[in-house]
Amino acid sequence: MSARILIVDDLAPNIHLLEVKLQAEYYDVVTARSGAEALKIAEKEKLDLILMDAMMPGMNGFEACEKLKSNPKTWHIPVIMVTALEETKDRIAGLEAGADDFITKPIDDFNLMARVRSLLRLKMVTDQLLSHTGHTSANSRPLIEKINKRVGKILLIEDHELRSTKISKPLLKTHKVLVEGDPVKAMKLAGSGIDLIIVSLVSNNFDGLRVCSSLKFREESRDIPILIVGDPEDEARLIKAYDIGINDTIMRPIELQEMHARVNTLLRRKFYADSLRDNFNENLEMVVSDPLTGLGNRRYFDRAIEPFFTALKEENEDFSIMVFDIDHFKRVNDILGHDMGDQILKEIAARIVTNMRAIDVVSRYGGEEFMIAMPKTVEAEALIAADRVRSLIAGTPIFVEGQALQITTSAGVAQVQQGEQLRDVFKRADDALYKAKQAGRNKVFPAVYKDAA
Ligand code: GH3
Ligand code: MG
Ligand code: MG
Repeated sequence: MSARILIVDDLAPNIHLLEVKLQAEYYDVVTARSGAEALKIAEKEKLDLILMDAMMPGMNGFEACEKLKSNPKTWHIPVIMVTALEETKDRIAGLEAGADDFITKPIDDFNLMARVRSLLRLKMVTDQLLSHTGHTSANSRPLIEKINKRVGKILLIEDHELRSTKISKPLLKTHKVLVEGDPVKAMKLAGSGIDLIIVSLVSNNFDGLRVCSSLKFREESRDIPILIVGDPEDEARLIKAYDIGINDTIMRPIELQEMHARVNTLLRRKFYADSLRDNFNENLEMVVSDPLTGLGNRRYFDRAIEPFFTALKEENEDFSIMVFDIDHFKRVNDILGHDMGDQILKEIAARIVTNMRAIDVVSRYGGEEFMIAMPKTVEAEALIAADRVRSLIAGTPIFVEGQALQITTSAGVAQVQQGEQLRDVFKRADDALYKAKQAGRNKVFPAVYKDAA
């Protein structure tokens, strides 16, 4: 279930060095010895990040990156370019090739991990949004191209006039830039449709790290990307900045092309995420969500799990489903009335959804039936998750109109098998649910799988 990272380098010792570092952090590592091999692997396997050596014989890292970024199957995988020297020329070539970040040799562990974590976080959000909207990496391409043309609204937090002009003037040619030297005022501005915030780490009158931390803490600015302007000797503070959740850094003296490239990459990601979210909110929510519980309905579920079936078929990626059903709910309705029944349904839905992962798809599939799909999950893991939810529901009374009610649920769990359709696996999970009911309710049962052969 850990993130899968591809290391591309022509030299075995270089690969080994990175492999050891990443495996020590429990990442799943795949390796390639050339650009061509990397392209093949990226098409075939599901990757979350690529670390690409810039200098390789044959196809170099820049060419390989460009090919990855123009392939509809691989363009969404973040690429970190590994360059030998801190050469501006290389960094610009990398950004032009579509690389998302850089790291220079000799590789500094803290810097490497900060960048890896930051890009993986972004990849997770993107994947989640893609699956929620039913978009795949391939068919969301036209959307992306439209987004690339948008003008960004940038807030620059810097109180040194000369330094601020140096940043704002070139950016003003293509974007809107607001400059603010007072962090309190800047915090207010951040809530007004800003797409990117540039913060100077060292300023005359404020602490840049503190400003970033407040920005990430506040609801209205949490999702706005932050680019830090730092000095090479600030490394310790820069690492801390990544922990706070900033998205990228640029060093003084600022190289203009590099700044443009980094700003554009961050803006693109922001617009991309916004657009998927809008699309989800506007087009989907109305049709696919259930007004009582706020969960997705059957239509939403059926659509949201399509990518899981594809991933199972193409990449053999496991996933499981579970069906929850409230025990003796008819009786509950008969005794307490339909309205109180509704309140109970609402509370159960909330307990289920808050106890699943963000990447799980949770739906109210029928009247008092909830269906959940868990990507990257085998049956044993799904059983544990289901039983945790079951016990949380049974273990804490539900308060409705001053009454404490003990409500229980039963569940059936099934790992989806290669070649199965939704109706097949649903039937198996439903049979397991039936057994849980037969066995006395307030239980979770695994499904039976009969091999067709
Ligand atoms: P079991 O433990 O076997 O699941 O028993 P049960 O009574 O829950 O089973 P059954 O499927 O026969 O009954 C489900 C009941 O759920 C019927 C209906 O009254 C109730 N129900 C379904 N949808 C809603 C709803 O939206 N609101 C309320 N209040 N009740 C609902
Ligand atoms: Mg039922
Ligand atoms: Mg029931």
